[in-house]
Amino acid sequence: QTADSLFIINSFAEKFFIDQLFKTEEGRDIGLSYFKERGFREGIIEKFKLGYSPESRTAFTDEALSNQYNKELLLKAGLIAERNGNLQDNYRGRVIFPIHNNSGKVIGFGARILKTNEKAPKYINTPENELYVKSKILYGSYFARAAIDKADECLLVEGYTDVVSLHQAGIENVVASGGTSLTIDQLRLVRKYTNNLTIIYDGDSAGVKAALRGLDLALEEGLNVKLVLIPDGEDPDSYVNKVGAAAFVQFVNQHKKDFILFQLELSLKDVGNDPAKKSELVNKIAESISRVNKTEDFTRQQDYIKQSSSILNIDEAGLNALVNKYIR
Ligand code: ATP
Ligand code: MN
Ligand code: MN
Ligand code: MN
Repeated sequence: QTADSLFIINSFAEKFFIDQLFKTEEGRDIGLSYFKERGFREGIIEKFKLGYSPESRTAFTDEALSNQYNKELLLKAGLIAERNGNLQDNYRGRVIFPIHNNSGKVIGFGARILKTNEKAPKYINTPENELYVKSKILYGSYFARAAIDKADECLLVEGYTDVVSLHQAGIENVVASGGTSLTIDQLRLVRKYTNNLTIIYDGDSAGVKAALRGLDLALEEGLNVKLVLIPDGEDPDSYVNKVGAAAFVQFVNQHKKDFILFQLELSLKDVGNDPAKKSELVNKIAESISRVNKTEDFTRQQDYIKQSSSILNIDEAGLNALVNKYIR
């Protein structure tokens, strides 16, 4: 009931933001110019139903209330906010990325500020409600489904703009996690479409750490996870705009690393010559490898044991025995 009403309100808001972007002087001068400067062309702006929220304090609020939309639901949808007893727009002077579910209905919004500063958050997202459950959302899944199916691979990036730019470049099997660490629910969504997940994260450390947190969950889900880091200072959006689609795809294919081995190499750097730390790492990797077994993928498990023992410079049979201990 509430969910249905939220869909209707979100759809009304989506149309409002699109009209603002294309049909008002402010929208064209500020919002559309912003998108164009980022290299988004009109076709892709229309496909992803991007919009603009005007700077005015109450433009959307007035429009929604005069169309008889319910105040409580507007608050719940995160489209309006109550400040000092007054109702006002929640997104002001921002470009809007509607977020769609798998059937293309709007479940929420991400709103980006035009010029980043310390005082305001870069993105404002819909608050958690009946439709918008952050841990279960993959931005772009509606637009990516067919391409993921065809490629039998899902590319996972951090941000909205990464998805949009890659689509524009013709790389359509891509969804975004929204910058958080991956959740088990998001991995299950991927798993519905394909077993092959390639995580492409920004070339900053925050991205790497976020990526690593999902590893063991992914193995339990039976996913074949690869990881690519975009070169320092870039993200998939900036990088594909810089080098073009073909070079982007080539970079990803050349640099994608098996997740479990990537994690191992990263951890090994911290271990140094400390035997206690090394023993701890060996146990940890044995446990990770043991989880692969749940998918009854014996060959892959043996591959991991071979490669890990080589990376760690330890006996392969010994690691094999340890892995088997964890399987019990
Ligand atoms: P842009 O290119 O516009 O700067 P981005 O997607 O590269 O955007 P990142 O800082 O890399 O931005 O963040 C990745 C994703 O994390 C964003 O697309 C957004 O979904 C989410 N995010 C970032 N900052 C915030 C924030 N302050 N509040 C909520 N979500 C955020
Ligand atoms: Mn980042
Ligand atoms: Mn970016
Ligand atoms: Mn980014």
